[in-house]
Amino acid sequence: MKEQGDRRRVMIFDTTLRDGEQSPGASLTDREKLMIAKQLARLGVDVIEAGFPIASQGDFEAVKLIAENVKGPVICGLARANDADIDRCWEAVKNAYRPRIHTFIATSPIHREKKLKKSKEEILKLAVAAVKRARSYCDDVEFSPEDATRTEIDYLAEVLKAVIDAGATVVNIPDTVGYAEPGEFGNMIRELFERVPEMKEVTVSVHCHNDLGNAVANSLAAVKNGATQVECCINGIGERAGNASTEEVVMNLVTRKDYFNVEVGVNTKEIYRTSKMVSSLTGLEIPRNKAVVGENAFAHEAGIHQHGVLCSRETYEIMTPAMVGWSGESLVIGKHSGKHAITALLKEEGYTLTDEQINEITARVKELADKQKFVEKDDVIAIANDVIHRLSEKEQVIRLEEFIVATGNGFTPTASVKLSIEGETKMGVGTGVGSIDALSHAIQSVIDPSLRLVDFHIKAITGGTDALADVSIKLADKDGNIFSARAVNEDVVRASAMAMLKGANKALSFQRNEKGGER
Ligand SMILES: [Zn+2]
Repeated sequence: MKEQGDRRRVMIFDTTLRDGEQSPGASLTDREKLMIAKQLARLGVDVIEAGFPIASQGDFEAVKLIAENVKGPVICGLARANDADIDRCWEAVKNAYRPRIHTFIATSPIHREKKLKKSKEEILKLAVAAVKRARSYCDDVEFSPEDATRTEIDYLAEVLKAVIDAGATVVNIPDTVGYAEPGEFGNMIRELFERVPEMKEVTVSVHCHNDLGNAVANSLAAVKNGATQVECCINGIGERAGNASTEEVVMNLVTRKDYFNVEVGVNTKEIYRTSKMVSSLTGLEIPRNKAVVGENAFAHEAGIHQHGVLCSRETYEIMTPAMVGWSGESLVIGKHSGKHAITALLKEEGYTLTDEQINEITARVKELADKQKFVEKDDVIAIANDVIHRLSEKEQVIRLEEFIVATGNGFTPTASVKLSIEGETKMGVGTGVGSIDALSHAIQSVIDPSLRLVDFHIKAITGGTDALADVSIKLADKDGNIFSARAVNEDVVRASAMAMLKGANKALSFQRNEKGGER
């Protein structure tokens, strides 16, 4: 356990790129993962869990890329408790400056009987063997007994002691199914420390899921009872209802240092920016009322409680917007702002882009500035995301040639489209309850009819009727594979058409390769 003065240091283990990426609907390219990893390093997290290398070739490559290019935090990969997983994981993380292998096996009765069909003794043996194998490669090895909170405490203590004896440097107590209650979970951590005194010699981690909305509260209860590492995801994304949110855990530990009496190494001023980046790249929106990073979190700025705040900020404000890097101002770009200013702005926001991408973003910002008086920072970021998300030439099998939408009063909204599919021109028409519905029907009449539009979401980037529209959609094929896509344009109808075609192209290339789709 590391001590700083009389304060215990709590490690922030960010799993946005592993557990977070397993969120339904989120899927990131290697380049996007690297960008997020670099921003997480700038945020100052202690550990980045970069992926699950054996899950797919793509996962392996992404973890390797991050291990080789991100300096600062420990770079960790996940592996089940078997040789193949551990070997593959080591291959992916071995070039990191500080690599870690995180291996796990379920220990609860329900998982032992229903999933693994193995006895307590067999599982204990596998856990010990996995830790030993991982330690033969790497000095830093984390072990997780999956579904710990539903495991008999005697057996859990026995497993923890055995893996520490085998060389685990970190033991993690996951509430895999989000079942624990804060008081109960805190007591459990305390009791484990009593039963297994060896835990004081290693890092003790927790990994809480939010199925009952307790992920952050449970993590904090564990810290209060001696845990020295918290596993969490930016914006609380993750499997099912998600994980503990990194920003909420950190701001609790910082704002209530008087209560927790611990230190964290995070630079809180990078929180807001990191949160925005993860939301834009995964397409998972941040609720307005989300703690710490939601738009309403610092609503005093917008006039609510303004009287109290004007008298004295502390009347309503327990943390300042500046503490999380929320400036409130949005830098304005005019038509004379050049490539240099735009590059600097995006770099500041943590974006790493190729020259070609920068040129295209600059051209589009200028085009927008010609139509609109001012282009705000969020507009530039939205355009950058649109450019990053663009499909390659090869992936653009279906192209939009022309479209027209007619709508009005006492008239059925009608659309017609002309698409080019592998050079062949196809026409489609459709009607609907509104212009976008009609357009969607027109497109669907030409492309694969088994594709269904299952989600459609429009967001205006900045205020005004001339704002950029950010459209995100999800298409489902007949096997239930989901293809998400988004597009940004100043014309909402056009952005919708572009997003739908992007989704259809993704579905088509998935059908052709039978890979690359989302779970
Ligand atoms: Zn998890």
